Amino acid sequence: MSKRMRVVLFASVLLLTLTASAQRRRRFGEPPPPPTPQELQLTGEMEKVRDATLASDYAYQRLAYLSNNIGPRLSGSAQADAAVQYVADELRKLGADVKVEKVMVPHWVRGEERAELVEYPGQAPKTTQKIVLTALGGSVATPNDGVTADVITVRDITELRKLSRDKVQGKIVVYTNRYDQHMAEAGESFSAYGIAVAERAIGASEAARLGAVAAVICSVGGANYRLPHTGAMFYLPDVAKIPAAAATYEDIDTIADLAQQGRVRMHLTLTPQTLPDVESANVVADIKGSEHPEEIVLVGGHLDSWDLGRGAIDDGSGVSSAMQVIATIKQLGLKPKRTIRAIAFMNEENGGRGSAGYVQAHEAEIKNHVGAIEMDNGAGHAMGFVAHASTDSIAKLQLAAGALHAQGADIIRYTPNSPGADVSGLDQRGVPTFAPLNDGRTYFDYHHTPADTFDKIDKTHLQENASVLTVLSWYLANAETRPVHIDPPKAAEKQ
Ligand SMILES: [Zn+2]
Repeated sequence: MSKRMRVVLFASVLLLTLTASAQRRRRFGEPPPPPTPQELQLTGEMEKVRDATLASDYAYQRLAYLSNNIGPRLSGSAQADAAVQYVADELRKLGADVKVEKVMVPHWVRGEERAELVEYPGQAPKTTQKIVLTALGGSVATPNDGVTADVITVRDITELRKLSRDKVQGKIVVYTNRYDQHMAEAGESFSAYGIAVAERAIGASEAARLGAVAAVICSVGGANYRLPHTGAMFYLPDVAKIPAAAATYEDIDTIADLAQQGRVRMHLTLTPQTLPDVESANVVADIKGSEHPEEIVLVGGHLDSWDLGRGAIDDGSGVSSAMQVIATIKQLGLKPKRTIRAIAFMNEENGGRGSAGYVQAHEAEIKNHVGAIEMDNGAGHAMGFVAHASTDSIAKLQLAAGALHAQGADIIRYTPNSPGADVSGLDQRGVPTFAPLNDGRTYFDYHHTPADTFDKIDKTHLQENASVLTVLSWYLANAETRPVHIDPPKAAEKQ
């Protein structure tokens, strides 16, 4: 073998070896570069706040009070007022700098809600069949003695739109589209919710467009113990407002069966009222940063809740977990470099006035928001967090995920949109947004029902979620660099 051949052979073997090891690294994940002294210190602090949070029952006790002592907290209610006072007082007790920031909120009040089938195939003489339902939030009322009309069933808005006006005019439209329980059990409950919620949002207006007198949807959620799920609905501007309700899964099933056999008539009574807007508030609590007090890490949930349950999961769990962030940092006597701001938003459920009011009141400092974390996807086992941030920022966030590894919460999942409604205004203005990644398989079993009560809260799972909020807040408040919201546009490819 010539010397030249030997050189070529050596170079080829070296190249093959390097390629194989690069492939191996790709397959098993690049070993991270050794941590810098600053990263080591930050990791130590994150582990400290994690362990203190996992050992604390602060959030659990605050959530018990919000749920059991105060109860449901629909915007404009006396309970919502009491909750603002309670959360502000508790955060002051911790030594945070607390402000109660006024916002005007809608004041919708539920009235009577009942329905009976008064005519249907096979009806026994002098009987009716009770239908279990609840008014959708924002619905107008029927006359006090109700409305009686023929029922027309359609699967969804798409099917409704294929009908001519004479088929729908003067009738009660019943949508039979169901929440997909199989999808939820496979871990895709938010997708199942997203698919089923369109009829709740605008089903009444779509029915009114064809002359319907009322609309009834199938409750958007799982479980099916004949519990109705409420939720917000909206009237489109160009059509008449008609009453809207959600019946239980079981009642929709019965109506659909009977309507296939012949004529079905329903008597429906809903008497909600929309009262004038009232003053309410967001609660905003700061621990000032020691180096960059003007830079803000926001962490929160929403304080208002639907009125049927006690707002334990949705979203007392988010508010109490954000309070825990302040409690843990104060308990350990730590000082963040940037300001950590816990917030309890008002009116997420039926208006979003709290989050809109926050953006308006803090317009000048939005550019100083380093990140915004919202917990409003339930309090199930936390597996990590979702992030709407750039690829490079998510790579850097591995340091925070590493600190959550010991509690089994080190997944970082990219999301192309804001992971929460109350931080979406900030997200739209370029603030990176985050949320815990929960096991949400049973979330919609209780969501917006009378069963959203404190007994459904698993203390360990709540602590895990609070720990994700605390570790992530601490990382964002102390990391060398701020996260970037979205990837910079790709440079034009070279010719
Ligand atoms: Zn919520």
